[in-house]
Amino acid sequence: MDLMLSEEQELIRSNVREFALKSIEPVAAKIDQESRHPFELFEKLAELGMMGISYPTQYGGGGTDFLTTMVVTEELARSCASTGFLHGYSYGLVGHPILTFGNEEQKRKWMPGLAAGKMVGSFALTEPGAGTDVSAATTTAVKNGDEYVLNGTKTFITNALIADVFVVFAYTDRSAGAKGMSSFLIPKGTPGLNASQHFDKLGVRGSLTSEVVFKDCAVPAECMLGKEGDGFRIAMSALDVGRIGIAAMSTGITQGCLDESIEYSKQRVQFKKPIASQQAIQWFIANMATDVDAARFLYMNAAFLKDKGKPFSVAASKAKLFCSECAARHTTKAVQIQGGYGFVKGSKVERFYRDVKLAEIGEGTSEAQRMIIAGSVLR
Ligand SMILES: Cc1cc2nc3c(=O)[nH]c(=O)nc-3n(C[C@H](O)[C@H](O)[C@H](O)COP(=O)(O)OP(=O)(O)OC[C@H]3O[C@@H](n4cnc5c(N)ncnc54)[C@H](O)[C@@H]3O)c2cc1C
Repeated sequence: MDLMLSEEQELIRSNVREFALKSIEPVAAKIDQESRHPFELFEKLAELGMMGISYPTQYGGGGTDFLTTMVVTEELARSCASTGFLHGYSYGLVGHPILTFGNEEQKRKWMPGLAAGKMVGSFALTEPGAGTDVSAATTTAVKNGDEYVLNGTKTFITNALIADVFVVFAYTDRSAGAKGMSSFLIPKGTPGLNASQHFDKLGVRGSLTSEVVFKDCAVPAECMLGKEGDGFRIAMSALDVGRIGIAAMSTGITQGCLDESIEYSKQRVQFKKPIASQQAIQWFIANMATDVDAARFLYMNAAFLKDKGKPFSVAASKAKLFCSECAARHTTKAVQIQGGYGFVKGSKVERFYRDVKLAEIGEGTSEAQRMIIAGSVLR
């Protein structure tokens, strides 16, 4: 595996870094404080071609490999975890399932808008009684002539309040177990689809998270993504890709903590010298610098396998598990390095400390990743 980024990828990384320093850093704390979707940042990212950079050119994308999208996600999260999360989510949980399982008409309908950043997508799988145990879902889609009628409740759904299209999962045949789950692409405004006010969250507050209720929501049969019974497979495929996004986002958080820790420890003077001269602080920073390399290699490896068309599901779980837990460890240390100043609102490391928790929960908890990894090695 070639772990060097190409010149083009390095250029994209540095352009995104420049954008993040100029446009994201000044507003990230406010986005967190106000818990609002950063529309203005996504408009600019779309202008830079960063929303659809890896989508095929025939659907308005930039035609790069998937790894390039992950590098962008990492750089965005280095300044604002919410922005990084939403960038990775958009590719993994919305663009990827449409591109992989959609028919030509569906791709033409949704992909150009997503690639241009003019449309927002949402992935509605989790339910109040079905989190880790996806198959416990109770939302149903009953065939009625040329339509399916959906009933059920989804929860913790990112972007639901602002989405143009929902990738929704519902049982078309409960008796068939996971093989009876199907997936639908449902446009916003469809009667019977209602998203409620967003949850007030601990972190990643720039992403809006809501409950979505389907009440006698009738959709034409053409809205089905894939075939009847493909839903579980589509959900797992999307989550495999989404997990690499969470790993890249987590790596951005760890890198952001490292940046902050280096800068702060060099300028903070105690006992008449910078705290960076103390071995205790140096060890925190050395561990961060080592782990961020390891994290980056793991998410890049998973993205590389996906780009090469090789199986990447277990690699994605390993990357998500390591990168998220590693980021969580280092956000604690980054706050420690800044002492009381790191504990107060408005401090970047305080924000990262809260944001990182999502990475250990969303798109499959750390325990779920361990189940997948253990299953792969104990066969
Ligand atoms: C901010 C945010 C955004 C989200 N966005 C979306 C979205 O857009 N779309 C969507 O569909 N979902 C979304 N989710 C939901 C997310 O995927 C779930 O929260 C996650 O899968 C865990 O499900 P749960 O919260 O129901 O926890 P549970 O499944 O109830 O788990 C609770 C605890 O039990 C553990 N546990 C469960 N089963 C086992 C087991 N067999 N062995 C060991 N431990 C176990 C878990 O690891 C966890 O620690 C989002 C969640 C959050 C917090």
